[in-house]
Amino acid sequence: MSLMDKTALEIGAMIKNKEISAVEAAKESLNAIKETESKVNAFVTVLDDDQVIKDAEDVQAKIESGEINSPLAGVPVAIKDNMCTEGVLTTCSSKILSNFNPTFSSDAVLRLKNAGAIMVGKANMDEFAMGSTTETSYYGATKNPWDLERVPGGSSGGSCAAVAAGEVPYALGSDTGGSIRQPASFCGVTGIKPTYGTVSRYGLIAYGSSLDQIGPIAKDISDCATILETISGHDIKDSTSILRDDYNFTSALVDDVKGFKIGIPKAYYGEGLDAEVKEQVMKVAKTLEEKGAIIEEFDLDLVDYAIPAYYVIACAEASSNLERFDGVKYGYRTAEYEGLHNMYKKTRSEGFGAEVKRRIMLGSFVLSSGYYDAYYLKALRTKALLKKAFDEAFAKYDMILAPAAPTVAPKLGDSLSDPIKMYLGDIYTISVNLCGLPGVSIPAGLTPSGLPVGAQLIGNVFEEKKLIQAAYSYERTLDWSLPSI
Ligand code: GLN
Repeated sequence: MSLMDKTALEIGAMIKNKEISAVEAAKESLNAIKETESKVNAFVTVLDDDQVIKDAEDVQAKIESGEINSPLAGVPVAIKDNMCTEGVLTTCSSKILSNFNPTFSSDAVLRLKNAGAIMVGKANMDEFAMGSTTETSYYGATKNPWDLERVPGGSSGGSCAAVAAGEVPYALGSDTGGSIRQPASFCGVTGIKPTYGTVSRYGLIAYGSSLDQIGPIAKDISDCATILETISGHDIKDSTSILRDDYNFTSALVDDVKGFKIGIPKAYYGEGLDAEVKEQVMKVAKTLEEKGAIIEEFDLDLVDYAIPAYYVIACAEASSNLERFDGVKYGYRTAEYEGLHNMYKKTRSEGFGAEVKRRIMLGSFVLSSGYYDAYYLKALRTKALLKKAFDEAFAKYDMILAPAAPTVAPKLGDSLSDPIKMYLGDIYTISVNLCGLPGVSIPAGLTPSGLPVGAQLIGNVFEEKKLIQAAYSYERTLDWSLPSI
């Protein structure tokens, strides 16, 4: 068994007990990357060996002096390439940021660094986090470690594939409409999308600001809870950051679901859901029931309206957020141009990929006068009604159990030709972002053809701990191993 097959907490404990050093752990991760990266393409940037080893030596010294004692100290990590990292290329998997070296790090990355995490690279993603497959990356698609002919999901596909392929024990991803939970499900790993405002968005390159949240991706919920505890906290640099009463997520790692009321929205299990996926998710329900949870079906309203509302709001926000990429302030500028306007136009035409352009156009359209009321305002109203439907559900249930995605990972090349179909694949994840709720994706099982299926636990705002407790109890019963590639 390679060191990278262990969980982040196991590796952290080995470093603490002096069984290995942070430098050895870093070298193991770099070697694993060298061995597998040509097959998986999970990274946009892998840091130089010398730099990683120097960082690991510094952390090792701090562990020995007692300056750092986090359970993640010395453990290697991959960071999704939409989080700014000081002095390290941050591309958002876009040509337009292909030469962008930030002068600062995002808050979540800084918190990890202060805990002694060793960043080994920046993970591939869909361009500007727009997509569900990691195929819209300017740096080529990431492959699913379970089947190299399939996508890893997206947009945090690089982060999830890097963990599933044993390149790093854990990674950070971001989730605007499912980008942690859906690729986690396709790659057989665990991920948490926290309550909006729990992790600072400072230094996260914005896609849909009212929806974006950073979260952990790892092999199990114990790692995820520890990582979330490390990266969360109030940040005055993010005006939407919330000061919470309790960030002690690891205290919920308790094997007990007795009395938890878990709702199953009927609309999530009907038409559109693959029978193979349904079977695995229902097995999770059964396990939780056997452990003492109460499972009940219920009607969740407005499910059909979530996708249109999400794509209107996300694209509207994206069209505004992406205005800043104009060839003046950041990144790429076209080589030849005549005057300022022509420079903007050529830079953006050459710098953005097709999916990003589609969304900027859609977003500008729904915000333009004459259409604002018909589309954008209506989407906001739908969002408010959806939130009401979830409030009603959480008055009755501690959490909701849903699939993370309606299918297993599609084959490479199958999704992009039909964007609407790809958008429909977000049906089970996007309401969580529209309503600011926390969601956890856990491995449910394998289909007969050996592909992983993820189940999703959705909670009320600020109730991550219930989700973590249920996920922990469930994972106690799970016999799960990642593929060797
Ligand atoms: N697939 C969704 C989209 O393309 C979600 C992406 C995300 O969460 N970043 O918008």
